[in-house]
Amino acid sequence: MSTEPFLPTRPPRRTHETAQYWDGCAEGRLLLPKCNDCGELIWYPRLFCPFCASTSVDYTEVSGRGTIYSFTIMRRGSGPFRDHAPYVFAYVELEEGPRLTTNIVGADPESVFVGQAVQVVFEPAGDGEAIFRFTPIG
Ligand SMILES: [Zn+2]
Repeated sequence: MSTEPFLPTRPPRRTHETAQYWDGCAEGRLLLPKCNDCGELIWYPRLFCPFCASTSVDYTEVSGRGTIYSFTIMRRGSGPFRDHAPYVFAYVELEEGPRLTTNIVGADPESVFVGQAVQVVFEPAGDGEAIFRFTPIG
């Protein structure tokens, strides 16, 4: 994990539903809830299945690899992002299926494209916490 994030962030608000998820991020592992009844991966983190309403859900580690499903280049940031434009806001589709909203970091925003292979990276969020973002591979 880098010591300084590419883009600003704040420490997450943990809940009993998301604690394992945040523990994974802090350890550099992307953990997603998975339904024990229907097998679906669930995004965002929660302890019930939106597909079959089961409450039998456990966290499982995913690859952290995916492709850019869609993105936009933010050319004017506001608030804490004001001095960081241009930057990329994107949907990344994981190899395992779920689509996550995120930022693409470590790349020239003009070089980003739909279908580009990306890998998760974890950036420090303060208080020992981390959040995921994605960076192009290859
Ligand atoms: Zn289910």
